[in-house]
Amino acid sequence: MSLRIASRPKLEKGGRFDVVIVGGGPAGLSAAVYASRFLLKTVVLTVDVGGQLNLTNWVDDYPGFSRISASELVARFRDHAQSFGVTIVPGVEVKSVMRENGLFRVLGTGGVDVYSGSVIIAVGAMRRKLGVPGEEEFQGRGVSYCSICDAPLFKGRNAVVVVGGGDSALEGAALLSSYVGRVYLVHRRGEFRAKPVLVKEVLARDNVELLLNSVVTEILGEDSVKAVKVLNKVTGETRILEVDGIFIEIGFEPAREFFKSIGLEVDEYGYVKVDEWMRTNIPGVFAAGDAINMWRGFRQIVTAAATGAVAAYSAYQYLIEKGLYRPAGFK
Ligand code: NAP
Repeated sequence: MSLRIASRPKLEKGGRFDVVIVGGGPAGLSAAVYASRFLLKTVVLTVDVGGQLNLTNWVDDYPGFSRISASELVARFRDHAQSFGVTIVPGVEVKSVMRENGLFRVLGTGGVDVYSGSVIIAVGAMRRKLGVPGEEEFQGRGVSYCSICDAPLFKGRNAVVVVGGGDSALEGAALLSSYVGRVYLVHRRGEFRAKPVLVKEVLARDNVELLLNSVVTEILGEDSVKAVKVLNKVTGETRILEVDGIFIEIGFEPAREFFKSIGLEVDEYGYVKVDEWMRTNIPGVFAAGDAINMWRGFRQIVTAAATGAVAAYSAYQYLIEKGLYRPAGFK
């Protein structure tokens, strides 16, 4: 469930900001905290507050919290940014970012039309979904999209399914095999695309069963996941696996079209190309979090937050360089 802010702030048409942050997940909200500490007038325009954190229940790998509910962590990120005067506007999909008179004009749904000296793109990447019955219903109640994040929550359980044949799925299967009694790895083809070393590691685990050329057709449960229906595409046989959870690790979808529409250079996978300071090919536009081409194999809240902080620092440096820095209270 995504967090909503009770009263949605109204944005003055043509209003001027120092930084517009597009996206309100950990990267965007971290960027907002840092930008506001640089006394930049900051607004976060976002579809929802929390981003991919809304896909999980519990977090136990964010430093400072041995275990915190994902929604509580999102609320803390949000409250932290707001306490420094950041305006957060949820329910907004940014449609365009264009240069106009030395500034960026940012247009979004709901009539959003603002100007800014700099822009930080932190729209994340969506985990690809299977699109089978039960997936949406049991999301966060046995359906997970992140083995690294959620494996420890399944410690001592009987069995889980992992879906996919890439690095994420194989790494997830290996990790989960240390926590649960049995792991069923379901992959739609006969070969894995994952690194051989990961495949070798999985094959060495006695408690991982491979179901190749197979697809999940349904996720079954009551309060939480109880079983998963798997069809073998070669034999036509359907098995019902009694499991406590399913980890869908079938890759990510970057917001390719959006990036292209605003002129951002992307890598071969469609992620925004940045340098170590989160600078994109467009001067004044920075990117952070899962939208970028760094650390693609290790998407974490802490890495998203880190790149958000760096992007905010770079935006601040850029504004100084361009003579656009107008610290709050000195305007
Ligand atoms: P990925 O490489 O895109 O692999 C996705 C897997 O899911 C593929 O095996 C694909 O099957 C399968 N798949 C896709 N859509 C599906 C669907 N609708 N139904 C069933 N199966 C589906 O994604 P990833 O594994 O998340 O990796 C993403 C990137 O992160 C990669 O560059 C990877 O190298 C990197 N990564 C690296 C590490 C590491 O180095 N330790 C760990 C994790 C991720 P097909 O094979 O048939 O296409």
